[in-house]
Amino acid sequence: MSDNCIFCKIIKGEIPAKKLYEDDDVFAFWDINPVAPKHFLVVPKKHVSAPSSAGQEDDPLIGTVLRTGSRLAKENGLEHFRFVMNNGEEAGQTVFHIHLHVMGGRTMNWPPG
Ligand code: AMP
Ligand code: ZN
Repeated sequence: MSDNCIFCKIIKGEIPAKKLYEDDDVFAFWDINPVAPKHFLVVPKKHVSAPSSAGQEDDPLIGTVLRTGSRLAKENGLEHFRFVMNNGEEAGQTVFHIHLHVMGGRTMNWPPG
């Protein structure tokens, strides 16, 4: 946990969020500023600041994040969906606690902007 991290605060219940799923390892909630009809985030409960900061010991956790994203997408009616993990400001990362964006419900463009 990191004291000034907004996602750690959401995980601890100190900031409200529309929770979708929680277990011992991960927490999922709807994005406050959705960019698709369905847009939620899956985060590890462990504070890791960015994908590039994850260590080998985090491999199972990252796998759980991805698998949970797929399962929740399916459970929420998404057969086709986009996964995004931004790494660093120039790539669009604004919250420095790893999160998997899961977006769907519209046709996605490639390449992303
Ligand atoms: P990124 O730009 O990849 O770091 O993504 C951060 C995401 O977190 C953005 O899509 C924000 O809309 C979302 N976000 C920020 N604060 C909250 C919050 N309090 N509840 C839900 N989503 C949030
Ligand atoms: Zn955090």
